[in-house]
Amino acid sequence: MIQAYNLNKQYRRDSAALKDVTIKIGKGEFVYITGPSGAGKSTLLKLLYAAEKPTRGQILIDGQNLTRMGAKRIALMRRRIGVVFQDFKLIHSRTVFENVAFPLEVQGKKRYEVANRVYQMLKHVGIEHKMKRYPLELSGGEQQRVAIARALVIDPLVLIADEPTGNLDPDNTREVMELFKGANARGTTVLIATHDRDMIERFPRRVLTLDKGRLVEDRMP
Ligand code: ADP
Ligand code: ADP
Repeated sequence: MIQAYNLNKQYRRDSAALKDVTIKIGKGEFVYITGPSGAGKSTLLKLLYAAEKPTRGQILIDGQNLTRMGAKRIALMRRRIGVVFQDFKLIHSRTVFENVAFPLEVQGKKRYEVANRVYQMLKHVGIEHKMKRYPLELSGGEQQRVAIARALVIDPLVLIADEPTGNLDPDNTREVMELFKGANARGTTVLIATHDRDMIERFPRRVLTLDKGRLVEDRMP
């Protein structure tokens, strides 16, 4: 599903955020990416969802070479990847419903289909009663559930999450993990960058460890 070969990323000439990272992740896998702050976790995820380009190396997603795609095909590929951030990155001027509807509208889905799927997804994450509210009227845990709904509403091939529980209390962390597990059970490949040892112990899965830009461990539970 995801193949990365000898990935290098240099934001500046004199320092590398990623050094020769090679990984293969199969369809339907659930993988944590861990390591100290500055290790390159966010950078690796950014390369995989094509928010940044590698300085060197290749990325294949579902057999397609991301590093050789033009802007148009990258845009199409990104529509199949759901992304969740620590700070949610919701659009504050739009309602909960509108935030979750957005990726479906980008796909050109019909209005009734958008409405249906958004409602089903909001119900799934337990927030349908707040669909007319604006993100800043919600708690952190609720905002994160909206962000997850937005990522999952497109039925993504891959779900990428960067410290998705970093700002959440233990109850909300558990709920967010349940949503990721559910998506994974339905076939979505899940990749989570996290510092949260507890989370990894409670739901043990493959762990990739980065340190100073290098992949230093690839451990199965
Ligand atoms: P992590 O997510 O593990 O904390 P990052 O991928 O954010 O690590 O960062 C890896 C290294 O790359 C760090 O030294 C960081 O300062 C640097 N870095 C990340 N993003 C940028 C950027 N946009 N410009 C310059 N340096 C960056
Ligand atoms: P995260 O909290 O997800 O790890 P980062 O701290 O890596 O996010 O990045 C936040 C923003 O700051 C990003 O746009 C990133 O590209 C940028 N950034 C991160 N580190 C640096 C850096 N050392 N120099 C310049 N920009 C950076």
